[in-house]
Amino acid sequence: MYMGERIYDVIVIGSGPAGMSASLYASRANLDTLLVEKGAPGGQLLNTDIIENYVGGVDVNASELANGMYKDALKFGAEFVLGEVESIVKNDEGSIEIKTSKDVYKTKTSIIATGTDYRKLGVQGEDKYNGRGVSYCATCDGAFFNNKGIVVVGGGDSALEAALYLSQYGGVRLVHRRDEYRAEPYLQTLVKNNEKIEEVLSHELKEIKGEMVVNGATLVCSKTGKESDKSVQGVFINVGQLPNTSFVPEDVLSGEGWVKVDDKYSTELEGLYAIGDVIDKPVRQVANAVGEGSEVIHHILPYIQSI
Ligand code: NAP
Repeated sequence: MYMGERIYDVIVIGSGPAGMSASLYASRANLDTLLVEKGAPGGQLLNTDIIENYVGGVDVNASELANGMYKDALKFGAEFVLGEVESIVKNDEGSIEIKTSKDVYKTKTSIIATGTDYRKLGVQGEDKYNGRGVSYCATCDGAFFNNKGIVVVGGGDSALEAALYLSQYGGVRLVHRRDEYRAEPYLQTLVKNNEKIEEVLSHELKEIKGEMVVNGATLVCSKTGKESDKSVQGVFINVGQLPNTSFVPEDVLSGEGWVKVDDKYSTELEGLYAIGDVIDKPVRQVANAVGEGSEVIHHILPYIQSI
C-alpha cells in the first residue's frame, strides 16, 4: 500500500540497540519518526545471555535490556511498524522512498541500522543438519544439549561467549583454526579457567555427520592435516557476521557489503545514513551502537532544517 503524501522526517530501519537509540533521539528532538523492523526488537541482544560490558547495566540480562530499549525508543512518540524493507530509492523531488513487503513510505532522511546475520561455515552437513544439531545461537538452542557433546567453532568474542554459556550444559570442545584467538583477553582468561571447555586450537571442522540428527564431527588439524572423528550432538557455529544490506543501493556499500559512511554517518546518497554493526568499522559493541544512534540525529537535525 502507498502511504499517501505523508513524509516522515526520519525512518529508522532496524531495531537493534543502534536503531532504537536513534528512534529515541529523533523523536525526542520532535522529528516525525518511524521505526521499521522485520522481526522482534532487540537485534543481536536477542541472541545473547548476559551483557557484562554495557556500563551501568551491571550484568544486565540482554532480553531485558532489549525490552527497555524498545520502550525508550517509542516513549517520545516514534511509530513502530513490522515490515521487511526491500528497497531504498531517492525520488526526483528529493525525498526517499522505503519499500517494504507491504507498504511504501516517504521520508526526508533514513537511517540503516539493520546489523548483521550469522556467517555460515560452508562445510558438509551444515545445511542438512541446521536445526537438527547445528545452531548459530547458543542462548537460543543451548538447553537442547544438556549433557550432550558440544562443539563450538570460531575464535572471536561470539565463539568464546558461546562456549562459556554452553559449558553450563556439559563439556564443550572449542575448535579454532589458528593457535591464537581473536576474542578479547578477558574472555580468553575465562575460557582457560573453565574446566568444562577443551580448547582445540589449530583445528578446523571439516564435516558434520549424522542420521536424523547430528551424531559426529570430523576435525582436521590445520598444521598436520590429520583428521579425527568425534562423537558430537551439538555444533555451534560462530565464525563471524555478514551485514544485512541486501536492500541497500550498491553504490553505498563496500566490496564486502558493509555500508560506507563518513564521520557524520552519512552515506554517499544524500539523506541516507547508517549506524551500528552494519557499517564498515572496527568495533562492534552495544555501547558504540547506542552512541551512534545519538550522534547521527545530531547530524540529521541541521540537514533537515536546511532542506
Ligand atoms: P569475528 O570477531 O569476526 O570472529 C570470527 C571468528 O571466526 C574468528 O576467530 C575467525 O578466525 C573465525 N572464522 C572465520 N571464518 C572461518 C572459517 N571459514 N573457518 C573457521 N573459522 C573461521 O566475529 P564474532 O565473534 O561474531 O564478533 C563480531 C563482532 O561483534 C566483533 O566486533 C566482536 O568484537 C563483537 N562482539 C562483541 C561481544 C562482546 O563485547 N561481548 C560479543 C560478541 C561479538 P580467525 O581469527 O582465524 O580469522
